[in-house]
Amino acid sequence: MPFSVTILGSSAMFQTLDRAASGYLLEYEAARIWIDAGGGTWRNLIDHMDHRELDGILLSHRHPDHTIDVFQAFHARHYGSAEPMDPIPLWAPQETLDGLASYAPELDSSFDLQAIGSGDGFGFEGARFSFFEMAHPVDTVGVRFEHGDGSFAYSADTGPDGDLAGLAAGVDVFICEATFQDSDPEWHGHLRASQAGTVAAQANVGHLLLTHLPSRRDLGLSVAEAHRNCEGIPVELASDGRRIEVGA
Ligand SMILES: [Zn+2]
Ligand SMILES: [Zn+2]
Repeated sequence: MPFSVTILGSSAMFQTLDRAASGYLLEYEAARIWIDAGGGTWRNLIDHMDHRELDGILLSHRHPDHTIDVFQAFHARHYGSAEPMDPIPLWAPQETLDGLASYAPELDSSFDLQAIGSGDGFGFEGARFSFFEMAHPVDTVGVRFEHGDGSFAYSADTGPDGDLAGLAAGVDVFICEATFQDSDPEWHGHLRASQAGTVAAQANVGHLLLTHLPSRRDLGLSVAEAHRNCEGIPVELASDGRRIEVGA
């Protein structure tokens, strides 16, 4: 059975008029999982679906541009109907869970807090999630998802020293951060678009989407710089609202 990934947010660092911060909705036959909850992604999520049908939330790391809208889901589940809704899983690295819980100690009334780390994996409702260590200043996991004959990977935020080869090996769809361009100074915690292209080629992915996109830049240049390193692989910019079907 196919599954789908919908882009809820594709902007780097903060929400802009055109793009929410980071977020994705994974939908398959048995479950709907929200991956990363950056500013603006809640609005896009509820535009797409009834939030009461969410089966889980997965956060890659604690940075606010990937987490703050989880509090929207918390309040909606806690105060949005006569009785608080039963908890659903909230998977994240332990330091992310600790940070969120320090801000809202009642979070565990709406979510079943479950720590994940690189090297971990689990099955959920007939699909498989696995997590890879990314290179970022805080504990960050890349997310690989497999269901039926389809596969998808999401880099979260990472520099080139993350385990991108393991994360993306042979996936049908790779959503990879591309915060920088070749003219920017290199920084260990994020990728240039050209580096995303190199990973896509080496991992032999089926389709590359660039995300965590900078504002006020020529993003056509990001696509060109990525594509130069992965000729033959389709490359596109992630854009909010875009829904990609994966698998047969
Ligand atoms: Zn980020
Ligand atoms: Zn980050």
